[in-house]
Amino acid sequence: MPDIIDGNQISKDIIEELTIEVSKLLDSKPKVVFVRVGEDPASVSYVNKKQKVSAQIGIESVLLVLDVSISQQELIAQIRKLNEDPEVNGILIQSPLPSHMIETEVFNSVAPEKDVDGFNVVNVGKLCQEDESGFVACTPAGIIELLKRQNIVVEGKHVVVVGRSLIVGKPAGLLLVKKSKIGNATVTFCHSRTQEIASIAKQADILIAAIGKPNFIDATMVKKGAVVIDVGINRVEDGSKKSGFRLVGDVDFEAVQSKVSAITPVPGGVGPMTVAMLMKNTIKAYRLSHK
Ligand code: NDP
Repeated sequence: MPDIIDGNQISKDIIEELTIEVSKLLDSKPKVVFVRVGEDPASVSYVNKKQKVSAQIGIESVLLVLDVSISQQELIAQIRKLNEDPEVNGILIQSPLPSHMIETEVFNSVAPEKDVDGFNVVNVGKLCQEDESGFVACTPAGIIELLKRQNIVVEGKHVVVVGRSLIVGKPAGLLLVKKSKIGNATVTFCHSRTQEIASIAKQADILIAAIGKPNFIDATMVKKGAVVIDVGINRVEDGSKKSGFRLVGDVDFEAVQSKVSAITPVPGGVGPMTVAMLMKNTIKAYRLSHK
């Protein structure tokens, strides 16, 4: 049987470490502002979770909810106010934003030193330059932390990342190719225009699925003994659940698990790590502003 990588437990350990770290900050506590535009149910649930974990750690959080009809210009004006507020250490703009906005323009309006989501062009640039002073996107940072704490060797391995988004795929690949111990991998990116994706995925020692398509990765796409990191969070209808849906990943867990050496479940794998890394980034932002 493979190792089931327990993201719930690993994130719990990190949250305990961060709680101790925050308790030692005597002058003031870190403060993060979550900006949510509209009432998308998944966004409501993610922001609630982020606020709950902030409170648990001792990080002050504020939720700013804006109407879905707000213009991009008005949203950016609100963000600029937060950029100028010395009490605010971190700003997170919950995505997806409404379709009338250009997400990268909004992300780039967040002050780089408060950009705890790591999507601002300055922080993406610092990731490329391997400059540790920047903020790394939380989900890819969570993947690295999972691999590290699970003692999975990355150096020299072939990593295939399926997905090339700014939020997950691209930064995950950049981190894994970085000159560091949990890095130094040979990275291949796949996306919707990739040909022969199954045969490429099958070459992976470590396969990262960040696609957004339920059960996309099946057993024929996975090498025996590979490590599989399933980033996908997909809602599929399920009449037996009170909510009417259940969450599944981008990997067909049942079909793949007998072939692999380690795999993350959905839920309970990468998801909780994203929140833990957000908290870590917020404390980093606080420390940067108190140097
Ligand atoms: P995006 O939709 O931004 O990107 C999806 C990527 O998958 C794109 O690069 C796209 O290719 C690629 N893709 C889509 N269809 C195919 C296909 N048929 N074959 C190959 N590649 C394909 O999604 P995100 O990166 O934001 O999210 C990916 C998944 O991860 C989602 O399920 C999301 O919910 C989840 N997620 C989970 C998080 C967590 O905390 N665990 C955090 C963030 C996201 P192309 O670029 O060519 O369009």
